[in-house]
Amino acid sequence: MKFSELDLPANILRSLAKMGYEEMTPIQEATYPVIFAGQDLCALAETGSGKTAACAIPLIQKVDPALNAIQGLVLVPTRELCMQYMAEIEKIASTTHVIPYAVYGGFDKKIQIAKLKQEEVHILVATPGRLIDLLYDGILSFAQVKCAILDEADELLKVGFLEDIEFILSCILHEHQTLLFSATMPDDIKKLAHDCLRDPRHISLVTERTAPESIEHYFAYCHPKQKHTELIRYLEGEDVNQALIFCNARHMVDSLFHSIRKDFKDIDYMHAGLSQDKRSSIIGKFRSEKLRYLIASDVAGRGLDFSHVSHVINWDFPRDGEQYTHRTGRTGRMGRKGKAFTFVSKHDLPGLRKLLRSRKITPCWIGKDPLCENNTPQDRRTQKRKRPFRLNPAEESKKTE
Ligand code: AMP
Repeated sequence: MKFSELDLPANILRSLAKMGYEEMTPIQEATYPVIFAGQDLCALAETGSGKTAACAIPLIQKVDPALNAIQGLVLVPTRELCMQYMAEIEKIASTTHVIPYAVYGGFDKKIQIAKLKQEEVHILVATPGRLIDLLYDGILSFAQVKCAILDEADELLKVGFLEDIEFILSCILHEHQTLLFSATMPDDIKKLAHDCLRDPRHISLVTERTAPESIEHYFAYCHPKQKHTELIRYLEGEDVNQALIFCNARHMVDSLFHSIRKDFKDIDYMHAGLSQDKRSSIIGKFRSEKLRYLIASDVAGRGLDFSHVSHVINWDFPRDGEQYTHRTGRTGRMGRKGKAFTFVSKHDLPGLRKLLRSRKITPCWIGKDPLCENNTPQDRRTQKRKRPFRLNPAEESKKTE
């Protein structure tokens, strides 16, 4: 369905046309009537499916710009997502009088306070920590909030954030609409999600727990000491447009960066330990393709829209299926193809079995498949002597043809 078939104001249609948005994505088409009608909603859609605009378009449409008050509140788990969400709302609202503003940690609070006190803001996009600071400072009023949105809702409802979210939502005293958007919703979070909603509609455009088909899933089984050499070999053998390399901890990001920076010219790293200015500058460079390789912790794993990423590498095996989905969802976005490449070591095997089963992933093994029961001790000895990264036998024979 085209946006022009909706009853959208002409100015919003103009912005969408400028952005090149003509056809609605499936999640936009499914959620628009529900959001517009004012119903609560729990929506699940694959990462990169157009969730931000699905929320932002009806939200902007609902705001009354003549009323100088915050009318829409968007909560997101990371600063980068906050900026990205804000940028999308800004573009869609650029032809209207609706004013969005983003508040997040790591940025001068005094400037944010001055803006909120002195200027009109209709839609506030925020990370929970900074928003709570501002609520304690008494400079925010939610008296006119019509709609609260939790983006990456499952992350916001996890233990570390849950109390903050409950507190923030409890500050909206009157009846309002609540929208939860996420790519994943583990069972233990579903109940919490339900507690935030009133008679919600549920829309799910993810085939339950399966990985998106736009991504090919490669795995390599090797000893941790071999990973460095094998990563370089893999990347050199691939046609990489941009690659995002995930580690499980900040110190791993630092150490991997220092060990491979000499092998790749246009590489940088990012994690939550860097200053906000540095984080924003690196994200900006990566998004505008001034960097080809980015080593990152999971601050880059959720929701961020990097359209040019062709490869996602799991240097460290992800903690669970959700983390795998969020990381690999940085590639293969909006119908493009992408490749995920995950290192597996011996102690990751139980997690690997669970991942493949729960996400219904058909793995492509580069080298030995550690789950193959036909690996006899003799095979294993033979494999040990060979270089660890072989193409699959079928591909190898193709190559020699
Ligand atoms: P999101 O899932 O919100 O991160 O969006 C993923 C990407 O899809 C972003 O680059 C958006 O700019 C783009 N996008 C969202 N909606 C549309 C649309 N209707 N037509 C074309 N591109 C879109």
